[in-house]
Amino acid sequence: MGISRRLLFTAGSGVIGVTILSACSSDSPPSTAGTPQSAAPPSATGPGRWERVDLSFVSAYLLIRGSEAAIVDLGVDGSADAIGKGLTAAGSGFQAVRHVVMTHKHDDHAGGLTGVEPLATGATFYTGQADVTGIQSARALTPLADGDEVFGLRVIGTPGHTAGHISIFDPATGTLVSGDALRTTTDGLTGPDPQYTEDMTTAAASVKKMAALDVKVILPGHGAPLTSNAAASLTRLAASS
Ligand SMILES: [Zn+2]
Repeated sequence: MGISRRLLFTAGSGVIGVTILSACSSDSPPSTAGTPQSAAPPSATGPGRWERVDLSFVSAYLLIRGSEAAIVDLGVDGSADAIGKGLTAAGSGFQAVRHVVMTHKHDDHAGGLTGVEPLATGATFYTGQADVTGIQSARALTPLADGDEVFGLRVIGTPGHTAGHISIFDPATGTLVSGDALRTTTDGLTGPDPQYTEDMTTAAASVKKMAALDVKVILPGHGAPLTSNAAASLTRLAASS
């Protein structure tokens, strides 16, 4: 179940299109069924929702639970403004962000850190242990490892694309934010781009590991979210990897 809407923001001399895709969990409490998104936020302990901030060739994702938010991936340097607009469109803001997770060290996922750091003042910043030293940061990054939990989200170690690559899984909704461990293209779900991947054998093992999860939605760094038949597509990809 999903809602899609397109918002246009004027920024400087250009217009940035930010596509917000919302997916509300089907097991929301009955009392909120049918209420508009501008209504009171769901319980802080209930399942969260996700929003995509489309930064043209790469995406950041906002995971929102109650009055708090997490951001997964930050785009290239200069993406903070678009991420802030995405938060506002989602009825949130940088002041609500408690957790900022970078799936890996590459500039198109961690480059926005410079701009986001001074805005998300209440947040802890994380990345996978082996990628910590690969990211320039004004403050210390908290290393994450497979099995860690942040904000009710499970950290899945998915090395291969980089040694420290992590994916974020919300077991309450089956939402997997895959960074560059998975992509979607016009041909459907596929693994990481070999051209930019450190170890394709390890990356293939990570695809198999993700296929063991109860996945309902895949939110990739590159390409559109996969909101239908995600588990079947992932199982098929794992079998051919
Ligand atoms: Zn990458």
